[in-house]
Order: sequence, then structure tokens, then C-alpha cells
Amino acid sequence: MGFDTDTDTDTDTDTDTGEVAGVIQPNLTVNQGENMPIWEPAKECMSRDEVRQLQLERLQATLNRVYRNVSFYRKMFDRIGFVPEDDFADLQDLQRLPFTTSRDLSDSYPYAMFAVPLREVVRVHSSSATTGNPRVVGYTRRDLKTWSTLVARILSAAGVDTEDVIQVTFAYGLMTGGLGIQYGAELIGASVLPTSVGRTERQVRIMQDFRTSVLVSTPSYALLIADRMEQLGIDPKTLSLKYCVCAGEPWTEAMRLEIEQRLFVRATDNYGISEVIGPGVAGECLEQTGMHLAEDHFYAEIIDPVSGRVLEEGEEGELVLTTLTREALPLIRYRTGDVCSILPGSCACGRTGVRRLSRLRGRCDDVVIIKGINIIPARIGDLLERIRGERMLYQVVATREGHSDQLEIWIAVTEELFFDKMREQRTLVDVIRNKVSNFIGITPRVRLVEKSSLQEENGVVKLFVDLRAAPAA
Ligand code: ZN
Repeated sequence: MGFDTDTDTDTDTDTDTGEVAGVIQPNLTVNQGENMPIWEPAKECMSRDEVRQLQLERLQATLNRVYRNVSFYRKMFDRIGFVPEDDFADLQDLQRLPFTTSRDLSDSYPYAMFAVPLREVVRVHSSSATTGNPRVVGYTRRDLKTWSTLVARILSAAGVDTEDVIQVTFAYGLMTGGLGIQYGAELIGASVLPTSVGRTERQVRIMQDFRTSVLVSTPSYALLIADRMEQLGIDPKTLSLKYCVCAGEPWTEAMRLEIEQRLFVRATDNYGISEVIGPGVAGECLEQTGMHLAEDHFYAEIIDPVSGRVLEEGEEGELVLTTLTREALPLIRYRTGDVCSILPGSCACGRTGVRRLSRLRGRCDDVVIIKGINIIPARIGDLLERIRGERMLYQVVATREGHSDQLEIWIAVTEELFFDKMREQRTLVDVIRNKVSNFIGITPRVRLVEKSSLQEENGVVKLFVDLRAAPAA
């Protein structure tokens, strides 16, 4: 997921990549309300109708352009008899088109999906692939300008302004995380510390000496920094930190609270993906109620990852993005593999017309299907955490009785739970059963078990065990 921030390494090698050339100068008006800085109010505060009209126009142009300039799309459209000029009149018409997958991008390595000649490409990034070729992403000069603007939007929404000193702990180089944030922060006029990944003790030292006010990191790295500070005996209250801009991995509300309490910051969530641009696709404002999507640049759909059906607002599934303004690498219905939902309702910050993305729930590969329902075992863990106020050791187990699938949730009995009275244990089981049932629509069988009953892999309890194929005991 995300944009290959790769900040979990904590090596002692210096990954300094030197200077960043070609910085774009700020040329936009900043409208900063007192508590509500909005970088591009004319775009971020459009009405719903204006958003849809703009999307329609930009989609029409994008479809025409990829049909003309990208053989992959020309072949795809020809195959299904889709002529953009005649067959695209409504946003719904997009659903007629097949998806673009990460595999398609790998297969087009390095430049076959580019819609402009290489001489117009001024920057190339790439995204690592676990199998096959890397996915190569190109940017024209205008793409870079768009990118910086989008990052400026999310950073402004997260509280960053010209006064801030912003420490970027994302990887620099071919990955998009570091440079993406860098350009947006410079556009705002903040002072950027491109510390890149790793060397946590040095990060802490820089944070102290350079009076960092904004930390940009993965949520888990922010907590690692908090741990290291604790070990070094540094009181976070003595630092200048105000905000933590988090991205790069799925995280929970509990992690947000922990980051906020341990580093004395406000922490916001943001989402990016290298293939469509990098960071800047969506970001939370300080209301912390979900990530505002840059809907004037990306058209978002949520689909059922198995059937490909487009889901309703509020339903959880795989995020599919179509770029609306990208010049070098326009993508139509790109399957991100990231699981989230589009949130209903609007935010109090004033960005009313654009929709918001929920927190990411994980990767589609994490989805398991039980009784025809998509379940993400990690989400069951979030739910259990909310019920009991602490992380529980659990395992989602699929079993089969006759021809019918069963969902079981096995929960390890801790000492505390063990000493709870039988009646309290039963109450807990009932509460969990009801909550899970309301949440996913299947009533599970909840079992309290010894920790040793939970299957492990490499010393870690597996979140999901499938016993459906196993012979009946
Ligand atoms: Zn907002």
C-alpha cells in the first residue's frame, strides 16, 4: 500500500541523497483562516455538483487522451467497443471499463504506459514490486506542479504553515514519499529537514536541536521515536513538536491516541500511492474525521475486491482510482489493493463538497471470505480492542459444518480474564458475539481458549486460520 515510505529500517547507514534540484516556487494564494488553513479553497471547497461536473469534463479529456496515446488503453477500449467520444456521457459510464492492475503496470516496464514522449518527462519514480518488474511512474513538469500543490493541501490541512520546521522521515530516492512531501512543504514555505529513513537516535537529536515542529512519518516509526526518546530520557514536552503527519501503513485510532499522548502532538492521517502520484491523494484536516480526497484530480470508486462490483458510500472495499489530470502516466480504474470506504456526511472544516476516505483497513490480500462475506481479520482485532479497551490475542477461524461455513473467533484467556468470574466471561462472549454480528453481518462462535491453542507462524499468532478444507475431527 501507500507510497513505499519504507521508514521501518533503523540502520546506521547514512542515506543522504544530497540536494533536491528544481524546486517549484510557491505561486498560489494561501487562504489561511484562523483554525482552518485551506490551501486552494476554490478547489477544496467546491460544491458536490461542481465536483461532479469538473470530474466529468476531466474524465472525458483523460479517456480521449489515453485512447490516442497509450496503446494499452487503445487495445482495451477497442476490445470492448468503447469509443470515449461517443460512449462516455456520464460518470457511471466509467463502470463499463475494465480495471488497470499493478500487474499491467509491471508488464509495461519501464515506459510503455506513458502517455507522453520521454522528452516531456522530467521526473521518474518507481514503486517496488514483490513479484515482477517495478512499476515505473513518470511526471511531466505540470504533473510535478500538481503534485506539490496536492501535498501543500494535505500539509496545510494537517496544520503546517510557513513557521514550521518539518522533519521528513520517509525514504528519498526512487520512492515517492520523501520528495513528494518535500516539494509540498517547500511550496507552503515551511523549513524542511530531509532526514530520510532510519538512524532514530540522530532523528531525535535533530528534532531537539533544529526545533522540529512537524514530524512526517509512518505511525509505527513515530512510536519507535517515542520509545527511543524514553530510552534517552528525553521529555517530549521539552521539544517543539506540534503535529505528526502520518502515512504509509494502516493504523488504528488507538495508535493515534498513543502518538498524540506520547509525543504531545496532533496526529493526522494521509494517503498516497506512487502509481497515481505519491503522497497527496487524500489527507485529514485537524477535525480528524477521515481524509479529504483530491477529487478534482482523482476519481475514486470502492469495489468489492472479489466481484469487482462498485459499492455504495460507506461500504468497505478496494479503492480504485482514476487520474483526472495526470499527463505522463494517466491511469484508468487503477486497483490500489488498499481497503477502505468513502465516508458519508461532510466535515466541519469547510471542505464540504469533496468526499472523505476512511482510515485504511489493510490490503485486499488480507481479505478472507466466509459465508460469502468479505472479512478482514485485522478489523476484528480493532473491534475487540474497542470492546475491551485493550489489544486482545485472538484468531479468526473459518470452519465448515456440513456444507455451511462457520466463523469462529478464538480469544486467548489472559490471567485477568481467567480470574474473571464465569458469568463475566459469558457476558464478554455475548458482547463480542453481538458486536461482531452487527459489524459484519455474520454471528460468530466466540471461544475463550488457552493461548497455546492459537496457531502461530514464525512465533506470531496468525490472525486467520482456515479449517474448512480440513477433514472433520
Ligand atoms: Zn475537514
